[in-house]
Amino acid sequence: MPEESFTNTLYTNDNLFILNGLNSDLVDLIYLDPPFNTNRIYSAPIGSKAAGTSFSDMWKWQDINEAYLETMADKYPILARFIANVGGTHSKAMMAYLTYMAQRIIEMHRVLKDTGSLYLHCDPTASHYLKILLDLIFKKNNFRNEITWKRNEVWKKYSDKRYDVGTDIIFWYSKSDDYLYKPQFIKSKNDPSNSYKLIDENGKKYQSVLITGHKSLGKSSNMYEYKGYTPEYGWTVEKEQLVEMDEQGLLIWKDGICKRYKKYLDERTERVNSLWTDITTARGKERTGYSTQKPLALLKRIIQTSSNEGDIVMDPFCGCATTCVAAQQLGRQWLGIDIEKQAVNLLVERLSDDAGMFKDFVATQLIPQRTDIQIVQPSQSIKERLYKQQNGKCNGCGNEYLMKDMEIDHIIPKAKGGGDYYENYQLLCASCNRIKGTRPMDYLRMKIKVREEMLGNEVIFGE
Ligand SMILES: [Zn+2]
Repeated sequence: MPEESFTNTLYTNDNLFILNGLNSDLVDLIYLDPPFNTNRIYSAPIGSKAAGTSFSDMWKWQDINEAYLETMADKYPILARFIANVGGTHSKAMMAYLTYMAQRIIEMHRVLKDTGSLYLHCDPTASHYLKILLDLIFKKNNFRNEITWKRNEVWKKYSDKRYDVGTDIIFWYSKSDDYLYKPQFIKSKNDPSNSYKLIDENGKKYQSVLITGHKSLGKSSNMYEYKGYTPEYGWTVEKEQLVEMDEQGLLIWKDGICKRYKKYLDERTERVNSLWTDITTARGKERTGYSTQKPLALLKRIIQTSSNEGDIVMDPFCGCATTCVAAQQLGRQWLGIDIEKQAVNLLVERLSDDAGMFKDFVATQLIPQRTDIQIVQPSQSIKERLYKQQNGKCNGCGNEYLMKDMEIDHIIPKAKGGGDYYENYQLLCASCNRIKGTRPMDYLRMKIKVREEMLGNEVIFGE
C-alpha cells in the first residue's frame, strides 16, 4: 500500500492477518485499547460478552497457539522466555494473553514509521506485564510516559476491603528518539486570581512573568536575537511565539531590553502532564452503547500530541471506531481494524453523525498484501536456495530429505497476510506440508509436538 494511494480503511478481520499484510513504516501513530475478553476477540457478537467472567475463563492457553512461543523464541528469545515465565508467576491465562498481544505488538512495531508513536491503553489486570512486553519490543529507552487517566465516573467496586478503582493506564512508546511531541494545554484550575495584582491601562489584571532564561536553568535552546536584543540565557519561548506576543503588546520593553511579559488572568493555561483528570467518559450523544467506548476527547489529545495533519493514525482494536472519528475530525488519515463485522455499521453510523462529509472510506474483510517486499514467485532456483539454507532438512519435522521430495510453502499463509516473497518461503516435506495446509507454522509445530509426545519423542513424520 504505497502512501500516496492511501485511503481511509476499516478492516474487519483478525488484526494479526491484517497487520501481516501491511507495509513496514506505514503509519505515524497507533492507539490500541485491547480487550481482555477472548470471546470478543474470537468472533462472538457484540453484547454476548459474559459479564463477570474471570480473566482465566477468558484466556485459555489452547486458544492461543502454544507453538507460537517457539516461533517467537528464534527472533525474540528474551521476550519468549519472559512470557513463558509468566505461566509460573501469574497464570497460564496471562501467558496466553501476553502471547496473543506480543504477536500483534511485534507487527505494530514493524508497521510504525521510525518517527511514530504507540499508545497502549490498559488497566491493572495486565499493565505490569504489558509494559515489559513493550520494553522488550520497542526497547526500554523508547518509553515516553505512563499516563493515568481518571475516568471520572462510577468507580469499579472490588469489595469492601479494597480501594475502588477509577483510573486507566496508557503507555506511550516511540519507535526511536526522533518522535513528535506537541505539548497540549488546558485551563488551569489552581491559578488564584489574587496573584494577578497588576492592572494595565484598560483596567485588566495581569502578572509580570519572566520570558528570558535564568542562570539557575542554564542556557535555553531558544538563543536568538530579537529587535537587537539577545538575553544572556535565551528566551523561554520560540521566536515565532515571541513575535506573536510582541504583536499583541504583551512584551514589557525597557531601554531596548525585554525580560518579562504581561500574563493576563484569562489566559490561565497549563501544560498537560501525565495525570489526566479533565476528560470524562463518553456521555450523551457520543455514546454508542459499546461497553468499552473511550471518549473522543481522549483520542483527540493523543492524536494532537503525537501526529500532524495528514498523518496516518491506526487503531488495531478499533471497536466503535472512536479513534477513526477523532482522526477524521482532526484532518488525519486513518486505518481501523476490528474482528467484528458490526464495527462497519457502527462506523458508518458515527461518521454520518459525528464527522459529516466523511463517507469516503473503504470497509473490507480482504487481507492486504505487502508491496514493500520484492515479489518473487516460487521457482526451482528459490527451491535450491532454500534447500541450502535449511541444510536439506524439513522446516517442520527437521528430517533430511532429497530436494525433489520437498515442497515450497508460505510460512505465513497468504490468507493470513503472508505474501510471495523470499523471506516468507520455506521447504517442508510432503507430509508436513499436508498437515500445515494453509495454516500458520504454529499449527504444524503443535501437531508435531503432540505426535512426538504420543510416540515418546520419536519423530514420525515423513514415514
Ligand atoms: Zn517434515
